[in-house]
Amino acid sequence: MPEPVTSAGALAATVPVGVVGAGTMGAGIAQVAAVAGHPVRLHDQDGAAAERAVTTVGTHLDRAVAKGRLSDTDAAAATDRLSSVTALDDLAGCGLVVEAIVEDLAVKQQLFADLERICAADAVLASNTSSLSVDDLALGLAGPGRVAGLHFFNPAPVLPLVEVVAGARTDPAVLDTLVATARRWGKTPVRAASTPGFIVNRVARPYYGEAFRLLESGLVDAVTVDAMLRESGGFRMGPFELIDLIGLDVNLAVSRSVWEAFDRDPRFEPSPLQERLVADGRLGRKTGHGVHTGD
Ligand code: NAD
Repeated sequence: MPEPVTSAGALAATVPVGVVGAGTMGAGIAQVAAVAGHPVRLHDQDGAAAERAVTTVGTHLDRAVAKGRLSDTDAAAATDRLSSVTALDDLAGCGLVVEAIVEDLAVKQQLFADLERICAADAVLASNTSSLSVDDLALGLAGPGRVAGLHFFNPAPVLPLVEVVAGARTDPAVLDTLVATARRWGKTPVRAASTPGFIVNRVARPYYGEAFRLLESGLVDAVTVDAMLRESGGFRMGPFELIDLIGLDVNLAVSRSVWEAFDRDPRFEPSPLQERLVADGRLGRKTGHGVHTGD
C-alpha cells in the first residue's frame, strides 16, 4: 500500500493555500481560506482579474465588518494573508491548491498536469468543478491519489455546503483531510461520489432546464416565475435570478457536461434559449445582462 499523501486531520492554518481562477468562485474560496488563517496565493491566467479579485475580497471583508460579522482586526489580517501571484510556479509551496477555472475538462487536465509538476508530492490538488469526473481530471497524473473535488456553492463565503468528491483513485486520507479542513473553515462538508453533477447539480439540472422550457413556451415570463418561487415558494431566489448569479455560461457548461455524461439523456438536455443568450453575451450579473435584462 502506498503511504497516504496526507494525514487525516485538517490542514494547519499556517499551511499556504493556492487558488487558481480568480472569477466568481475563486475569489470567494480565497476569501474563505484567508479568513480561516491560511496565507492564500490567488492565480489567474489574466493577472488583472487576480488583482481585481483581491480588491473584491477586501470590499467583501469591509462589508462583513460593517455588518458586525467580522472584527476589524480579523478582516485586516485576512486581507494581509491574501495576495495575487502572476506565475503558476508561485504555488510551489502550497499544501492545498483549489482550482476554480473554466468548466472545461481539457483545460483543467492541463492545469492538474502543471500543478503535479510544480507542487510538492504531498500537496492536495482539489477541483471546484460542478460536474466533471474527478477520475477524468486526474487522468495521466503520476499521483491521482491526491486529487479530489472540493465543490463550494455560490457565494462561497456565505453558503455552508461543500461537496467533497471522491474519485475512484483518491486517497481516503486526502478526503478525510478535505472534510476536516472544510469543517475548520466553518463549512458543512458532504461526501459525494464522482458521478455527473455529484449531488446538488444532479438534482438542479432538470430544475434549471424545466424553468427554461417553461420560458420558451411563452406561457409565463421570467419575472413572474422568480417572484412566485421567491415570494410564495420559500426559495431564496427564483431559478432565473440564480442562473444570472451563477453565470449563464458557467451554468450551461455544467448542463452540457452532465447531459453528455448521461449519454444525452433528454432529462438533462440544455435549453436552446440558454444557448442563444450565452451566444449573445448575456451571461448574467457579470455582464450586466442575463435572463433578466439590466441585472
Ligand atoms: P468565472 O468565469 O467567474 O472565472 C473563471 C476564471 O478562471 C476566470 O477569471 C479565468 O480567467 C480563469 N481561468 C480560465 N482558465 C484558466 C487557466 N487555465 N489558468 C488560470 N486561470 C484560468 O467562473 P466561476 O463561476 O468562478 O467558475 C469556476 C469553476 O467553479 C467552474 O469549474 C464552475 O463549474 C465551478 N462552480 C461555479 C459556480 C458558480 O455559481 N458560478 C458554483 C460552483 C462551482
